[in-house]
Amino acid sequence: MNIILFGPPGAGKGTQAKYLVKKLNAYQISTGDILREEIKKDTDIGKKIINNMNEGKFVSDEIVNSLLKIYVFDPSKKQKLIFDGYPRSLSQAKNLDILLKDSNQKIDYIFFLNVNKETIVERIKKRKVLEKRTDDELVTILKRYDTYIETTRPVLDYYSKNSNFHEIDGTMEIDKITSKIKAFLNV
Ligand code: AMP
Repeated sequence: MNIILFGPPGAGKGTQAKYLVKKLNAYQISTGDILREEIKKDTDIGKKIINNMNEGKFVSDEIVNSLLKIYVFDPSKKQKLIFDGYPRSLSQAKNLDILLKDSNQKIDYIFFLNVNKETIVERIKKRKVLEKRTDDELVTILKRYDTYIETTRPVLDYYSKNSNFHEIDGTMEIDKITSKIKAFLNV
């Protein structure tokens, strides 16, 4: 069962992804986590992306797509992927379709966690204290939100007509969101 968790930064995609990983014995593909790991390990990619990441700007499709491909084609992870933070643009959504088709897979569920800007700002401010992410400064949060509205939100039109697309009120408590997801998945 392959699932996309879609929504703005701070919507709770990572939290729900972690739950689904346990419940379904699946794999979380958080492109943000994968990219942060590259920075932590100080790889060539890490050196290239650090400025964009810290400023809340997108990392190039070329880099993100190539990192993602490794996971999609990993036979041990087939049909058990939870996409968290990918796709983030129309071109990434189309790239994902191609990768899944080429690896004989499909998306079974798309969950859109819909959250307003005020809630996001409050949540990310709290996360900054807990996780100390360098891109959780207020000015960067606002930049990331603008990028979401301009570039990521249009992906909704691409997915929303599909019968496997479900919108969930992401301002609800974590457990309530999880229950909604569980009900759709029948687990
Ligand atoms: P996240 O952890 O999903 O909030 O992502 C943190 C940062 O990683 C983003 O602000 C981008 O700089 C970068 N990033 C994560 N996923 C992507 C993606 N799919 N495309 C481009 N940049 C990404």
